[in-house]
Amino acid sequence: MDFTRRRWIGTSLAAGASLPFVPSSLAGGSLRIATFHYDVTPPVGHPLCGGWITPAKSVADPLEAIGFVILGSGEPIVVCAVDWTGLLNEAHIQWRAALAEAAGTTPDRVAVQCVHQHDAPFVCLDSEALVAEQNAGLSLIDLGFFQECLARGKAAVKEALTQARPLTHVAAAEAAVERIAGNRRVEIGPDGRIGRMRGSSCKVPELIAMPEGLIDPKLKTVALYSGEEKVASCHYYACHPMSHYGRGEVSSDFAGLARKRMQEVEPGCAHLYFNGCGGNIGAGKYNDGSPEARVELTDRLHAAMAEASGKLAPKPLRAVEWRTHDLLPEVNPVFTEERELAQVRNPENLPANRIRPAMRVSWIRRVAAKTPIVLSALHLDEVSMLHLPAESFVEYQLRAQAVAPDRFVATAAYGDGGAWYVPVKEAYPQGGYEVSVANCAPSVDDALGVGIRELLIG
Ligand SMILES: [Zn+2]
Repeated sequence: MDFTRRRWIGTSLAAGASLPFVPSSLAGGSLRIATFHYDVTPPVGHPLCGGWITPAKSVADPLEAIGFVILGSGEPIVVCAVDWTGLLNEAHIQWRAALAEAAGTTPDRVAVQCVHQHDAPFVCLDSEALVAEQNAGLSLIDLGFFQECLARGKAAVKEALTQARPLTHVAAAEAAVERIAGNRRVEIGPDGRIGRMRGSSCKVPELIAMPEGLIDPKLKTVALYSGEEKVASCHYYACHPMSHYGRGEVSSDFAGLARKRMQEVEPGCAHLYFNGCGGNIGAGKYNDGSPEARVELTDRLHAAMAEASGKLAPKPLRAVEWRTHDLLPEVNPVFTEERELAQVRNPENLPANRIRPAMRVSWIRRVAAKTPIVLSALHLDEVSMLHLPAESFVEYQLRAQAVAPDRFVATAAYGDGGAWYVPVKEAYPQGGYEVSVANCAPSVDDALGVGIRELLIG
């Protein structure tokens, strides 16, 4: 238990003790909420971003898993945000299963969404086994550390449940974010193909000068209350969260740093940050990758979190509903298990060019085994928290909001990461980096659309 955690629990206990008990009205007064929080910082020497950038040399600021459990609406519901690059396939299933076991529920009632920082672990357990077989010193994850994180999650949830409080109110608000997000796919040639990518940081004047392109400019905040006390505050914004990375300095980066600043001011409320459908979105238009730029991006994201938080107007919570949809995408036909395995086994390849194919092999086998990606939505009256997979393109969250215009839809992507990039179907013929590493066939677009509609409007 680190200092932050001790202080947070201490403060929330003190705050809870001073508040009167306020029963939930129309929900029968039986709804309760518990928040949890645990450290998932990798040890020095641990692989970062799946083992193809510099491993952990130091820790600029710790990585955390933060979540909440809702009790009293069927079996418990768990939502958790993790400061990791991604949890793929079996790793994502095991993470959810661990939290489910501790909460006394089933894994389909657990949403786990990564924030996608890059100086952070990127985990696929099947890929780890595949690259370990090569005896080439390749690794994505220390399996002991991964198990330790699952154990910490279980302990944190069990401890949290002893402090569950009535869940009585909900609020939602949004604020425009200034000068962070830009579409990465803005240079399109006369042949309709994507040219150079404007990534998370950018120093190419022509790319910087191009318009932001299609983004979702709004940060959305959904807050849950126990009486007058704000217990959990969830912030959503669609953008790759990297200011700079690759030097071995573990960090929750600007998204995590902005969240931590909110947390510091409100120690009794759990602040969660969710990356929306930021697959084709990065900060490159406004970020030169310098240390100063990390501070500026943090300031701007924090300003939007504070502005949205200032607009929150809690209303009594009447109904909580959890919905799921099993997504079974098709494999992108450009990838075959045989060819990808040959890349994994090729000692001439750089580590990244053996590990990434291992991830594709794991995906192909997972699809063959018909293990679905579980999409979910948590409905709190007219507010919906939507949980989508992997590196979904921003179009999906814009469509989700359009599908349910009467609802406040806050979308978190980067759930099960096995699919890697999830472009919309129009993007495939355009090519570009994201399409070249999209593990699903273009049919994923329609399949995801069906899932989103079912989750939001039934
Ligand atoms: Zn990414």
